Parts: sequence; C-alpha cells; structure tokens
Amino acid sequence: MSLVVALILVIALVAFGAIASVVGLVVTRRRKPQPLPNTHTGVIVRPPEEVGEAPVEVSAPPATIEPEAPAAPPVPELEKPESTASRLVRLRQRLSRSQSGLGRGLLALLSRDRLDEDTWESIEDTLLTADVGVAPTQQLVERLRTRLRVEGGGEDARGVLREELLALVDPGMDRRLQVSGADGQPGVVLVVGVNGSGKTTTVGKISRILVAEDRTVVLGAADTFRAAAVEQLATWGERVGVEVVRGPEGTDPASVAFDAVKEGVDRGVDTVIVDTAGRLQNKAGLMDELGKVKRVIEKQAPVTEVLLVLDATTGQNGLIQARVFSEVVDVTGIVLTKLDGSAKGGIVVQVQRELGVPVKLVGLGEGADDLAPFDAGAFVDALLG
Ligand code: GDP
Repeated sequence: MSLVVALILVIALVAFGAIASVVGLVVTRRRKPQPLPNTHTGVIVRPPEEVGEAPVEVSAPPATIEPEAPAAPPVPELEKPESTASRLVRLRQRLSRSQSGLGRGLLALLSRDRLDEDTWESIEDTLLTADVGVAPTQQLVERLRTRLRVEGGGEDARGVLREELLALVDPGMDRRLQVSGADGQPGVVLVVGVNGSGKTTTVGKISRILVAEDRTVVLGAADTFRAAAVEQLATWGERVGVEVVRGPEGTDPASVAFDAVKEGVDRGVDTVIVDTAGRLQNKAGLMDELGKVKRVIEKQAPVTEVLLVLDATTGQNGLIQARVFSEVVDVTGIVLTKLDGSAKGGIVVQVQRELGVPVKLVGLGEGADDLAPFDAGAFVDALLG
C-alpha cells in the first residue's frame, strides 16, 4: 500500500516539474526583448555607452489595485519616418537631376581636342555661374590645367575632374551631428537662419531623422514672433509623436528655449532641438537675441550643435547672411536647403570656405523626409551626372 502511495507521489512530482518547466520556457520567451532592426548610419555621433547593447532588465511590477481608468482618447497613428540609408539613395537621384548641368558642362569643355584660353575661360565662367566662388574656381582651374597638361584630357578628364572637385568639397570634414549630451544630459541643437530659409521645416525633418534612429526628442518652438512657425512645428511634432514646447505668441524666445531644454532634461530625452527667430533686424539685435537664447539654455545643458540653415537659391545674399550669423553664434554645421530648386551646388564649396564649418545636411524637397546627410563623394558624383 505504502509502495503505491510513494509511486503516486513520484508521478505527481515528475508531472509538476514538467508543467513548471514548460511554463518557465513560455515566460522566458515572452520576456526576451526583440532586437531592433539595425537602421543606424553614421549621421549622428552616438555616446560611447550605446556602442554595446545594455541588458534589458525585466521584473514583475509590484501588484497594486488600479482605480478604474476613464476611457483613453484615441491615439493618433504615428508616421514612421524613412531611415537615413534608404533616403540617401532617393535623394542622390534628385540631387543628380538638379545639379548635373554643372558637371556635364565642365566635362564637355574638358573633352575638347584643344584646351585653349577660350576654353579655360568658359570653364571658369561655368564654375562661377554655379556659385563655386572666385578663389576656389581659380584654384580648381589651376589644378586642372597642370594635371591635364601632364596627364592629357579626353578619357582621363572625368577622373581628374572628379578628384579635384572632391578635394574642393573636402571629404575629410566631420559631418556627423552632435546630438548627444554628456553625463546623461540631452544633446541640444540650436537651429538658426533667416526667415524663409527653411529653418522650421528643417527642425521638423531633423526630428524625423532622430526618431528613425530610435532617439527621443523634444522640440522648442522659440520662433515666437510668427504664430505660423509655432503651429507648423507643432504639426511636425504630432506626426511622429515628438513633444513640442511652445509659449503664447510674442513670448520671449529665450524663455521657450529654456522651458524646452528643461523639459528635455526632466524627461531624460536624447536630444532637444530649438527653432529660433530669424529676424535680421540688425547685427546687434540678432546678437542680443541669439546670445540670450544660448545663455539661458546653458543654465540647463550645454548646446552641442549650432546649425545654420541657408537657402541654396539665394547665392551671394545667402553668403552675406551666413557671415553675419557666424559672427553672432559659433556655427558648428550648415544645412543647405532647396538644393533641388537650384543648379548652383557650388555654394557648398563657397560656404564651407567662408565659415570653415562643414555642410552637414542638405534639403532636397518639401517632403517630410527630403533631408539627407551630406556626403562629399555622392555630391560630386551627382554633379558629374
Ligand atoms: P523658416 O522661415 O526659415 O522657418 O522657413 P520654413 O521652414 O517655413 O520654410 C520656408 C519654405 O521653404 C517652405 O515652403 C518650405 O516647404 C520650403 N522648403 C524648406 N526646405 C526646402 C527644401 O529643401 N526644398 C524645397 N524645395 N523647399 C524647401
């Protein structure tokens, strides 16, 4: 009899063990975090701790009795921004459509049987018309003359021109966006430029790039002089679920910038992007305004990137504005917008020379994801068609 009882006990224990291990397996499988698809590119500088994946701790929350929650309002469906890798391919084609005239013109001239003085003059004119600027044009023509005299034109002309254009665009510059802060603070990106250059649109587009790279973002609508700019930014934010900090129309821009960065610090987000007013009333006024915005932001966290937005279609005027802004704030990168509407891609060379800072992003259309990291090689290839 006791043997039968012992046998029943053993069977019960084995059965219990089997059920427990099956349940355990199911639970572990449910808890194992799914790896995210790797859509990252080198467009932003990542903090060192992100290089290795941190283990995700899963623990059961303490049991609490929740009061009955009221019905939640419907959650608007969020857009999924395009990854940087795929947008580059699409935007390269668009860049090549708007810019290949310059390269084709130069190649046609350089392929002539005789490179006489008239031809060199036409080459110079072509470069100047494309806004390459006087000094870089002279330098390029000099280099081409020397090299083609030694290496000959014809077949080699394309390769020589590619190398020399690439040297002008300077592939060695660090074009990554500094969007991360130190010591757990958010990175702060200040976006400056004159009204109409595409500043607010660019802030919206950058937030989409960061969301596509799995970063958390807060936007500050500090262009408080234009209600439309604040509304526009709020719409950009809503589309990708990014919070936009704003104040009533006419509020001090610095106070909105302060609130936005404070919100970013309190919420522990990765990046705060602050749109600013672009009134070029006079240099002293601009300096006061942007200087104050920067000072109050830095009571919370250092500014990690100052992006100057320039409209590529404005040519020399745009350059004059760029100079004023760079005297007022320490610009760390240039965003060249509306390259799709201008055949004057040479402005890239001139503005980098003028300011000594790299073009980091280019705008190639009005679409939400029509902003791409600037890539020197791809740009020159697009010029050459
Ligand atoms: P802001 O005054 O500097 O903030 O300029 P906005 O962001 O309001 O932009 C001014 C206009 O330029 C808007 O109609 C934008 O759609 C347009 N825009 C901005 N970036 C680009 C671009 O890369 N290409 C084109 N074609 N239009 C752009």
